[in-house]
Amino acid sequence: MIFEKFSINFDKKKRSKNQIKFLIFHYTGMQSEIESLKRLCNPKSKVSCHYFIGFSGKITRLVPDEFSAWHAGKSNWKNINLLNRYSIGIELANPGHQFGYRKFKKSQINSLKKISKLLIKKYKISKTNIVGHSDVAPLRKKDPGEKFPWKSLASSNVGLWHKLKDRELKKRRKNKINNREKKFFFKYIRKIGYKINYNVKKTVYQKRVTQAFQRRFRPESISGIIDQECLLIAKNLAFLIKNKT
Ligand SMILES: [Zn+2]
Repeated sequence: MIFEKFSINFDKKKRSKNQIKFLIFHYTGMQSEIESLKRLCNPKSKVSCHYFIGFSGKITRLVPDEFSAWHAGKSNWKNINLLNRYSIGIELANPGHQFGYRKFKKSQINSLKKISKLLIKKYKISKTNIVGHSDVAPLRKKDPGEKFPWKSLASSNVGLWHKLKDRELKKRRKNKINNREKKFFFKYIRKIGYKINYNVKKTVYQKRVTQAFQRRFRPESISGIIDQECLLIAKNLAFLIKNKT
């Protein structure tokens, strides 16, 4: 069941069904669920989303799918800019890194799986177009963060995950990579969809985009340092995308 509440923070021009190509997940980054909802509906905040999932798993629609809600801001994925126009934004209540980031509730994730599956089917959204806010805006954003259960979502066919076994990975976490491998890492993650276009200092950007990758695909350590485990995961994902498996 989906509840309705109205936010005015969206583009008034309607979009067609086939313009919707992405799902973008967020956390609210606020302690109070009610305050989060108020903010997402307040014209002064200029932010919103399509669906809001509270701590209990209750889903509230704030903006109808046929309008672009204001949730992603300056963003890029697979060389496409400003993703609001092409995406559905889903916010999950969570205090976020600033106010005591915590595990998402099971009920929230169950609701998220349900609504995502409906949307994937309705708009034929590809696995590789299901992303977190930090994936599409790695310089500015950390949400939904490393506690977001991407692996569990992928096991329900929501989003992408690698096909490597734990034992193939863990021992490699501390192993460094060389410059050649570093180049490959960026080549792979570009294939996944990350923007590798340095409009800020290269080392700063590389660290942030690596952290975004780690939050998403290697949440056990968000070091910003590329190690052999990251390289292996990125390579496997690029391979899966290439072979559409
Ligand atoms: Zn966000």
